[in-house]
Amino acid sequence: MNQSDKDTFTPYYQLLTEIDALSESLEKQHYQHLNCKKGCDLCCMAISVFPVEFYAIKAESDLKSIQELPVPQNDEDCCYLVDHSCVIYPFRPVICRTHGLPLLYMSLDGDDYELSCCELNFTNFDLADFDDENTYPMDRINSQLYQINKDFVAGFEEGKYSETDRIPLSELAQS
Ligand code: SF4
Ligand code: SF4
Repeated sequence: MNQSDKDTFTPYYQLLTEIDALSESLEKQHYQHLNCKKGCDLCCMAISVFPVEFYAIKAESDLKSIQELPVPQNDEDCCYLVDHSCVIYPFRPVICRTHGLPLLYMSLDGDDYELSCCELNFTNFDLADFDDENTYPMDRINSQLYQINKDFVAGFEEGKYSETDRIPLSELAQS
């Protein structure tokens, strides 16, 4: 990756650094309630990502080797999951960095919060014990990612993408 690419993706990488630190902190707080481990991959499925994520992953990945990956058996499987491991793990997108942790969202009607977490985790935890100190603030994270992507697409290939466009991550293996 050249210096210009690095500068382009700097705000995105800063967000990833913040997300990874938050994940580490939440994993420490909740380690007794997390069953995440190598080989457990029910949370991995085909996803789409914002252009800023797609092109950051593309800039970092070994494209030649991922283009040789087997084609998934169906549309739901993520093609980067090989032998229960993620072959683009260091570059994985935002959503994959929050897997398994308690995610807090404002409800669609905006009058309450909703919590989302993997059904394999927090099987013996009182949901009332979740608060904004021990959960992921997903509305803030998503809002930051949206703004970073908006700035990225505004300067990318003469408006090729709108600020709401998403790209199937599987296209990386076909690019
Ligand atoms: S990119 Fe990696 S972590 Fe994300 S769904 Fe695919 S295999 Fe899982
Ligand atoms: S989030 Fe759920 S499916 Fe994914 S690794 Fe953790 S326990 Fe397994």
